[in-house]
Amino acid sequence: MAFEGLAERLQSTMKKITGKGKVSEQDVKEMTREVRLALLEADVNFKVVKDLIKRIKERAVGQEVMESLTPGQQVIKVVKEELSDLMGGEQSKIAVADRPPTVIMMAGLQGAGKTTTSGKLANHLRKKHNRSPLLVAADVYRPAAIDQLETVGQQLDVPVFSKGTDANPVDIARDALEQAKEEHHDYVIIDTAGRLHVDGDLMAELEQIKAVVDPDEIFLVVDAMTGQDAVNVAESFNEQLELSGVVLTKLDGDTRGGAALSIKAVTGKPIKFAGMGEKLDQLEPFRPESMASRILG
Ligand code: GDP
Repeated sequence: MAFEGLAERLQSTMKKITGKGKVSEQDVKEMTREVRLALLEADVNFKVVKDLIKRIKERAVGQEVMESLTPGQQVIKVVKEELSDLMGGEQSKIAVADRPPTVIMMAGLQGAGKTTTSGKLANHLRKKHNRSPLLVAADVYRPAAIDQLETVGQQLDVPVFSKGTDANPVDIARDALEQAKEEHHDYVIIDTAGRLHVDGDLMAELEQIKAVVDPDEIFLVVDAMTGQDAVNVAESFNEQLELSGVVLTKLDGDTRGGAALSIKAVTGKPIKFAGMGEKLDQLEPFRPESMASRILG
């Protein structure tokens, strides 16, 4: 399970403090030292940890007294709030264009889960929001990607726009948008090409697609299992494309949690959805608060 090690360590740290009728500065110091080590071990970005610990220390020492909680519980509340804020605090919503269709561009490295997530998102929009999405197969370099998206479309009964592997991705995106308008789709989800690494050709192509379709959302799909690499990838995509959000996949795996806890702080962009399995209904809106509660127990 994701966050298992981190959750275990933080919960045992919190257990020491929870019943305390009085929390001394020394107690806070020991607690934050353990929290710091646990976060670093969970592969959370070093600077993110440093800033977080500073805030927890300031708040935990000088906090107001609430009658319903013991001082120990109040300290834990501070840690929980700070962890939640770190991941973005509020749950963020998906954009709605003033004039439909709303265009969502999906980007990410190969294997991150982009094609699967495109399908999951279409399914989410249709089932949860009663929308009529059009999926667009713009990954022409990996022939299997188009077949994969078409299979996903069939499973979900969502139409897939494709022009095969000979067409130019920018033309595909432009034509798909036209068709979506004609057929009154209210969402267009464009599955773009991935690469093994971030490279100039990939970014140039994504920038061209962006210029042509003027997306309402640009989601970067990253694999939670890759830890700090996911954060670095998010940083470079964000610099080039100005993302609107991140989808963190494979949170059902035994990731240590570093990506989930660092991405918002490092890139400034929220995690909007979490992939929780391979099935097409295993996508969940990312909720920082419940994630923090899950970690702290
Ligand atoms: P793409 O190359 O980025 O388009 O990646 P794919 O969509 O083909 O996904 C790569 C692999 O990751 C596939 O085997 C997917 O089933 C798997 N995958 C995608 N999302 C998740 C997830 O949230 N959890 C798990 N366990 N597997 C996932």
